[in-house]
Amino acid sequence: MAGPHFAGFDKNPASPMSAAKASDRVRRRIAAQADYRCGYCLSSERLTGIRLTLDHIIPLAAGGLTEENNLWVACRPCNEFKGAQTRAQNPITDHIVPLFNPRAQLWHEHFEWSARGTHIVGLTPVGRVTVGALQLNHDLVVQARRQWVKVGWHPPE
Ligand SMILES: [Zn+2]
Repeated sequence: MAGPHFAGFDKNPASPMSAAKASDRVRRRIAAQADYRCGYCLSSERLTGIRLTLDHIIPLAAGGLTEENNLWVACRPCNEFKGAQTRAQNPITDHIVPLFNPRAQLWHEHFEWSARGTHIVGLTPVGRVTVGALQLNHDLVVQARRQWVKVGWHPPE
């Protein structure tokens, strides 16, 4: 039954689709800049077979905007573990430290691979709180890294 409630209905269907297309274009461009690796754990979407997601560096829930300078790519586990966090408590000093920003900071200044290449080691307070908050060494990814190391696909340079 047509009525005034439905007056604007026909105008809407196109907009969610074009927003999704714009978002996928941005995702693909940033993924290429990131060499198709998660900004936090460096897992490659070519190894996992799972498309990287757009990560809001400052989460929407914390007032971050959907603008390219607030976006990077992350794997699903990192994105989910990060959630709405922007900082975390350093377990040693109790200081609140911002999480690693993959757009503004260099991974190798804050992290390194363990000798066997299976674990990410935080080198700075930012690196250490990010390893904990995003669970960068959760069991399943460590098992995967062990397999990747065996065939020479990991760690990335
Ligand atoms: Zn990740």
